[in-house]
This record gives sequence, C-alpha cells and structure tokens, in this order.
Amino acid sequence: MIDPFGRAITYLRVSVTDRCDFRCVYCMSEDMVFMPKRDLLSLEELDRVCAAFIRQGITKLRLTGGEPLVRRDVMWLIRKLGSRLGQGLEELTITTNGSQLARFAEDLATAGVKRINVSIDTLDADKFAQITRWGKLDAVLAGVMAAKAAGLRIKINMVALKGVNEDEIDRMIEYCGRHQFDLCLIETMPMGEIDGDRMAQYLPLSLVRARIGQNWTLSPSAYATGGPARYVDIAETGQRLGFITPLTHNFCESCNRVRLTCTGTLFMCLGQEDAADLRAPLRRSSDDGALDAAIAEAISRKPEGHDFVIDRRHSRPAVARHMSVTGG
Ligand code: SAM
Ligand code: SF4
Repeated sequence: MIDPFGRAITYLRVSVTDRCDFRCVYCMSEDMVFMPKRDLLSLEELDRVCAAFIRQGITKLRLTGGEPLVRRDVMWLIRKLGSRLGQGLEELTITTNGSQLARFAEDLATAGVKRINVSIDTLDADKFAQITRWGKLDAVLAGVMAAKAAGLRIKINMVALKGVNEDEIDRMIEYCGRHQFDLCLIETMPMGEIDGDRMAQYLPLSLVRARIGQNWTLSPSAYATGGPARYVDIAETGQRLGFITPLTHNFCESCNRVRLTCTGTLFMCLGQEDAADLRAPLRRSSDDGALDAAIAEAISRKPEGHDFVIDRRHSRPAVARHMSVTGG
C-alpha cells in the first residue's frame, strides 16, 4: 500500500478496546464515557480486518487501547494474529499499562509476541497513584518482571509531565539501564477533553534532552521506526532513549502507519479528524472484496501531515477524540 505521498504503509495500530483500568490524568477524565459495547468489533471481526490489512502489505501490528489486556478473551485474538506471523506479518506487539502483565506475559511470548511497550511515568508509588488515579505501581513492576522473565523485550514509555515527573528521568534511565529496557519519553498531546489544564502539563522535550545530556553521554542513534520517535544511545547504560515530540512535524514525511479504533474506524493520521468506516463493509458481506476496497480507498486519502496545535487561550484539545480511542 502506497499513499499519495509515496509512503509505504506497513504498520497498523489497533485499539482493541477504549476501556481501561487506569484513568491517567493526561489521557482521560475520571468519569470517562466509553463506547457502547454493541458498537465494538468482535474479536473475530478484528482478526478479519487485520488479515485484510496483512494481505494488502501491513507487516507490523501493534495492539493498543485503552488497555488491550482488559478486553475479555483478548488472548484469543493475540494467538490468532500470532498464527499469521511468517505469513506476511513480521511483528506483533502490544502497548500496555502493565496492570495485567503478570497474568499474561507467558501467554504473550508463546503467541509469538517478542517486544512490548509498557507505560510507566514514575517509579514513585504515590505519584503513580496520582497520575494513573486507579493504578498500583507494585502490580505493574511485577508484570514488567514477569515479561522480562518470559523473554519479552521491553520498552518503557514515560510521558514527561511538567512539575510532576520531570525530576525522575535520571532515575528511570537507571532503572531501564539496570534491566536492559529501552526508554521513550513522550510529550503530552492535545487529544480529548481531560479534567486538568493541558498547557500546565506540557514539558518540551528539547529542554528535557538538554538536561539529560548533563548527566549522561548521548549520541544520535541510527535506529528509526518510521514513527515520531527520535533515538539516542546512552553510553553509560548501552540502552536506547527515544523522544516522541508529536507537536513537531519532523516525522510526518516518513509516516508508515494507520490506526484502527475498536469500532472499526480507520484514522489515517493521529492528528487529523478524517477517517474511514471499515465496520460497514466488514459487516455487509462475508466476502472481503468491499473491505479490501474500503482500505485501499482510505489509504488514498492519507494526509500529508498532522495539524496539532494547542489552542493556548482556551486550553482546548486540537483533536477531540481521546488517545484511548485511537490508541497511542
Ligand atoms: N493503556 C495502554 C498504555 O497506557 O500503555 C495503551 C494505550 S495508551 C493511550 C498509549 C500511550 O499513549 C501511553 O504510553 C500513554 O502514556 C500515551 N498517552 C495517552 N494520552 C496521551 C496524551 N494526551 N499525550 C501523550 N501521550 C499520551
Ligand atoms: Fe489507560 Fe493507557 Fe490512557 Fe493510562 S494512558 S488511562 S493506562 S489508556
């Protein structure tokens, strides 16, 4: 699949549920309203859409959410998708908050998952409870250790929050270095209404990087994923450190990805409202012709870049849907 700007689309992110067992302050409001369950694609339908994408050239699939591991029977889908590895699909990964990892780590590895991303914004248990509102750090760290023991490679995602965890980045680099995890720092993105003030949370990573450079030896890394992360190598730990700065435009030209919501809506760009409904063609017939055509038509509309801007005066999100809908 080649989009109008000559980019090969090889990466699909699938939000398997918009529900979550946490309520991170930058992601959701505490009384978040979720999609009615009847609107969700069934696990069989999700597998069918993924298979259609794989037929058309997707080689990498990431399951996300919401929290993917809270969807009932999600392991059925993961095993089904895992069985497609080596048959067009090259990599199956998930992004998780880690709360259920202790339970699922072994099964994930058995299903063919080799790498996972786990979101941990702080190693301080009280702060973790404040940021996630409902999360328990101990359970997440135990889950991460279970994943490590199961042989999964781990990348920690940490959203950089001004005045909240900015003084903890060195500690996280040490933790990741000790366990041989990569680390990715993420700038907050203006997506969805939340209870707090977004601008108060916004911490530019350019500043963070300069501070980290005072304590660690950083050198540009050759590693690139086609995504919004730019990587450096940390000499002291031998691990990679990524910076995801979504508000800059420096990654759109190499963007290789599209995103499917749990209701079957395909977003061609995280930062644009334009979307394609794949649920209707999926349900219209058991023959995949209409679905394949809808996917091809959607890719032909992938925009050149995103329009993220923070409406500073009103502190309103640039994109109305929450990250948990499209998946991070
Ligand atoms: N629940 C899983 C998790 O937390 O890893 C997967 C979904 S979550 C939406 C994916 C990633 O998006 C997480 O790393 C989370 O920290 C990040 N995220 C959520 N809302 C964000 C926002 N407004 N700005 C930046 N990152 C955000
Ligand atoms: Fe849930 Fe992930 Fe959003 Fe936190 S960031 S509320 S864990 S979906």
